[in-house]
Amino acid sequence: MPSGTAPRTVKHFSLHRINNVELRTIADVDDGVIQLMLHEENVIRGYARAGMWPHHRVMLFVLQDLQPLMRQVQDRPGMTRERIAAIQDQPATVLYDLKALDECSVYVNQQASVKAGYWNDLPAMEGLLAHEHAHPIAENDTVRASRMLQLGVVPSASAFNAVLTALCQKLSLLAPREVFANEKALHGGFQPALAHLNQRLISEAASGLPGRTALVQRINNAVASGHHPAHDAAALLLAGDYELCLPLAIEVAPFYRCGMTTQAAQLESILRATLFAALGTAIEHTYTALRDAYVHLPSTYTPAELIKWCSGVMQILVNSFATVGYALEFTLREQVEEPTEVASTATQADEEKSDEYSREDGNDTR
Ligand SMILES: [Zn+2]
Repeated sequence: MPSGTAPRTVKHFSLHRINNVELRTIADVDDGVIQLMLHEENVIRGYARAGMWPHHRVMLFVLQDLQPLMRQVQDRPGMTRERIAAIQDQPATVLYDLKALDECSVYVNQQASVKAGYWNDLPAMEGLLAHEHAHPIAENDTVRASRMLQLGVVPSASAFNAVLTALCQKLSLLAPREVFANEKALHGGFQPALAHLNQRLISEAASGLPGRTALVQRINNAVASGHHPAHDAAALLLAGDYELCLPLAIEVAPFYRCGMTTQAAQLESILRATLFAALGTAIEHTYTALRDAYVHLPSTYTPAELIKWCSGVMQILVNSFATVGYALEFTLREQVEEPTEVASTATQADEEKSDEYSREDGNDTR
């Protein structure tokens, strides 16, 4: 057990077989576990029917929060504090070993799922599980190349640039793995669950619009009182708008990639009626440019080819920040080693069992 971690009480342990797949469910929460397990079984069956299922064993952890996972991965290479912290906001995540696809672990984060409003929305939870399980299925040359690149915004010391870096990484370097995972989930037959999940994502983003007025006020006040430089206030607001809208291109593009243009158009008409209507046509143009980049992204890129593609995506952002007078500068380079163990949260972790839980198997309720 990693140092300083207190074991939690296992409230549910079960072992099921779905065709040839062993599903172990381990939970430290009482409610909702059985329902989630049934949806997990649906996901396994759906991918198996489509001939896409790669694992013999699945560990499904349903946990109050993902602190145990965060502790488990904290000493892994490449794990920065920001990347570990990002895990706690993930409603679900999957851990798998690229060299041993025989098994995987899925972690459902109750706290984050409740906060995101998914916990009681089982079709949305099924969409999340289908997406998470699609990550190992969606491994390809482009996804592997994406792990071999590093992207930064300069100067890296600025607090605003830390926000910009996370946004730019999400929209360029990290986007391929999400686009391909969504595409595989659609091929696996999870179109209704993903469409439902995406409608939720859009309405949640739209529900952030009233907060934008308060943000504008806060930025104006910070500029007026000298706490924030006037020259990047507009860029700060634009980054907030982009955070709200642009990741949705990663969700919608896979529908186009799969020829599901009617569903894609439905999602975009909701986007147009809500977010773009409020934020203007410039943001819609940036969204469309990114969406097209995701729609046409090949799965066979080398790192050198992906550097070109990412630079193109970054150029879209550079140009749009230039319209508010902000010079966005970035670096993009190949890193030395490709990691072998991965998680959908962009962490790199061993496929080690969570020993905090396995220790408790003996005294749980089976
Ligand atoms: Zn993902």
